[in-house]
Amino acid sequence: MNGVSIPPERTRAAQDVAAVLAPGRRVALTTHVNADGDGVGSEVALWHLLTARGLRTAIANPTPIPERFHFLVPNGADHSERAAREIESADVVVVLDISDVSRLGDLARAITHSHTVACIDHHISGGSLPGGGPRLVAPDAAATAELVFDFASALEWPLSPDAARALYVGILTDTGAFRFANTTPRALRVAGALLERGVDPESIYASVYASAPEGRVRLMTEVLATLVVEPDHGLAWVTVPPDALRRHGATADDLDGIVEYPRSIAGVRLALLFRQLANGNVKVSFRSLGDVDVAELASAFGGGGHRKAAGASLEGTLGEVQGRVLAAAREYLVR
Ligand code: AMP
Ligand code: MN
Ligand code: MN
Repeated sequence: MNGVSIPPERTRAAQDVAAVLAPGRRVALTTHVNADGDGVGSEVALWHLLTARGLRTAIANPTPIPERFHFLVPNGADHSERAAREIESADVVVVLDISDVSRLGDLARAITHSHTVACIDHHISGGSLPGGGPRLVAPDAAATAELVFDFASALEWPLSPDAARALYVGILTDTGAFRFANTTPRALRVAGALLERGVDPESIYASVYASAPEGRVRLMTEVLATLVVEPDHGLAWVTVPPDALRRHGATADDLDGIVEYPRSIAGVRLALLFRQLANGNVKVSFRSLGDVDVAELASAFGGGGHRKAAGASLEGTLGEVQGRVLAAAREYLVR
C-alpha cells in the first residue's frame, strides 16, 4: 500500500505497536520538550489514524505546540495544558520522536508502570522508557514521520489527507527541507507518496517557513551578531543573548534553523548554538558537516541525537558551559 516497500522488521514492529492499540482504549500521544515539526507531525498523524479506529486519543506534550505548527492540529486534539492528568488516565502512552524519558520534562513522572508505553522513534539512543512496551525504532529513518507512514502502510490503515499533510511536515522539517544527510531516496519516496495523497507543498511551505512573526527575524539578527569563527578548527558558534527570547516575544521554536548559519560557512565542520534555559541549564545544539559525529560529542555531555544534528542540556552558567563544550569540540576536531 502507498507505493513504498516496508522492511520486514518495521512491519513486525508496527504490528506489535498496533496490538496494544485496540479500539476503545484511551491513548495519550507525547513527544519531546519544545516539539518540532517531526514530533507534532507524527503525533497529529497518529491522532488521525487512531481516532478513525475508535480509540480515545489525546496529544499530551510537556510544552505547548509551537504556533508555527498549529495549522496541523485538529480542534480538541491537543490536551497539553493538562498533559500529566491526560497521561495518568491513559491506558497506553505512545512516545514519539524520543526514546528517552529525560526529554519528557515534568511528564516523565506521570508515566508509571501501570501504563503500556509504546515508542516510535528514529534516534540512536538505546532508550530509557519504562516497561517492555512495543517499539518501532529505526535510526536509519529520516524522521519519526517516516515510521508513522510505515506503521499505517504496514497495517493498511488509510492515511487521510490531513494525516498525510502532518507526516509531510515531519519529513520536511527533519530533513531541513530535503537538504540534510537524512534526505534518503526512501524519505523522498515517502514524501512523494504523501504528495500523491493530495498534500500541497507550497501551502505547507507558506505555513511552516513563510509565516514568521517579525520577532523571529529580529531575534535572528541578534543571535547572528554573536557569531564566532575559528577557521583553524573548522568551528563556529552563536549564542542566544540572555533575555532575547522574551524581548522579541519569541519561543524556542523561533531559534530553529539559526545554527545552520554558522554551519554554512566554508570550512566549518562543527557549528554550535548556546542558549540559557529557563531552568538555569544551558542547551547546546550541535550540527556537523562531513565525518564529524555530533551524537558522540553530545552524548559526552549527557545529550544525544543523530550523527549530524544533536543536542544536550548542561548544568552551569552560559560561560562555564561554553568553556567546557568548546574545549571538547576543539579537541575532537584536531584529533
Ligand atoms: P536541536 O539542536 O534541539 O534541534 O536537536 C537536534 C537533535 O538532537 C534532535 O534530533 C534531538 O532529538 C537531539 N537532542 C536535542 N537536545 C537533546 C538533549 N538534551 N538530549 C538528547 N538529545 C537531544
Ligand atoms: Mn524532534
Ligand atoms: Mn525527528
